[in-house]
Amino acid sequence: MNLHEYQGKSILESFGVAIQRGVVVDSASEAVAKAKELNASTGTEWFVVKAQIHAGGRGKGTVTETGSHGVVLAKGIDKVEGVVSGILGGHLVTAQTSDQGKKVNKVLIAEDVYYPGASEPSEFYMSVLLDRANERNTIMYSTEGGMDIETVAEETPHLIFKEEIDPRVGLQGFQARRIAFNLGLTGAAHKGMVKFVYSLYAAYDGCDAAMFEINPVLKTSDDKIIAVDSKVTLDANALYRHKDYAEMRDKSEEDPMEVEADEAGLNYVNLDGNVGCMVNGAGLAMATMDIIKLSGGNPANFLDVGGTADAERVEKAFRLILQDENVEAILVNIFGGIVRCDRVAQGVVDAYKNMGSIPVPIIVRLQGTNAEEAKVLIDESGLDVHSAVLLQEAADLVKKVLA
Ligand code: GDP
Ligand code: MN
Repeated sequence: MNLHEYQGKSILESFGVAIQRGVVVDSASEAVAKAKELNASTGTEWFVVKAQIHAGGRGKGTVTETGSHGVVLAKGIDKVEGVVSGILGGHLVTAQTSDQGKKVNKVLIAEDVYYPGASEPSEFYMSVLLDRANERNTIMYSTEGGMDIETVAEETPHLIFKEEIDPRVGLQGFQARRIAFNLGLTGAAHKGMVKFVYSLYAAYDGCDAAMFEINPVLKTSDDKIIAVDSKVTLDANALYRHKDYAEMRDKSEEDPMEVEADEAGLNYVNLDGNVGCMVNGAGLAMATMDIIKLSGGNPANFLDVGGTADAERVEKAFRLILQDENVEAILVNIFGGIVRCDRVAQGVVDAYKNMGSIPVPIIVRLQGTNAEEAKVLIDESGLDVHSAVLLQEAADLVKKVLA
């Protein structure tokens, strides 16, 4: 589950990570009062206004309606409301969004942390993630902060460093110090970075995160180390242990069809092909997508209907798949292990009748317990449904109906 920057920062802060402080608003009218509160607690005179959307590259992104960027400095309290109005309610297009952009429902008004001082501020990159190949949590970091890490990886890969954490002993002191050293830090900044790394790793571990990306981590002109941005992805499977985090979910940022599927208990991922698939089991769903590709089609979705493929679920799944206008055929591929094939077949027939008609050809492949009975049920239903028993037969039928 992805979080907004302000939500991620609040989790980081609760674990003692130093952050750029801010206040969240969802209307321009409350912006000045909130900014005043921020001024009272931090002393900041300048503010940076940041669009809260689930996408990066906001600083360079553009709000379609106003031409404003997604991260804008307001040099004084009198500038805040105008800057907020230029961002809030608009659609922000960045390198990571579609051409339509994402609607900005909230902005974060943060303290300006790039103030002048004894030294220049400098930006670093830091992420924490699970390296599956090494089976270890890994801290990835770079001296090249503020720009996107893919570019750094391509142009200057030697400036990306990694620290692997041994799960038996956790993050070690020498590792945190090596990170500070490799980032070229000395004195108070070095100490600050060691503390930052420690608390960041504790947060990653403690909140059951799937990924942290802090870009930039800032060394301020007076040698403080703070998180200026936060991209936090939590492990959705661990949310039952964190009810307060579960409430942070913002469904308006998610694909509406995927939200609907989720509410119906279906595991659905929208793709851009032309063959809808309805399958039980994630592994079989992957194999089905492969066979669609091999037969010259393109999967329109991944859909795992789960163990109980009854008429109600089958109908929900059909309705979901048919919302996608690119779908030209539907392949139903069910393995009858726990659920009997003839029950699923009856479900397909009932769902079809319930829906009146389905405007695209349907290929049903049922294999397993009572597969033959299921095929008879489908063939004798009088509906425009093609049945198959072998996967290859199903693939050939897909090819035939698409031709
Ligand atoms: P992103 O573009 O979505 O990654 O958003 P960030 O939160 O990383 O902000 C983008 C850029 O805005 C940063 O890399 C900074 O250069 C700039 N920025 C962020 N906070 C401040 C601030 O307090 N003062 C100034 N002057 N610039 C800031
Ligand atoms: Mn950033």
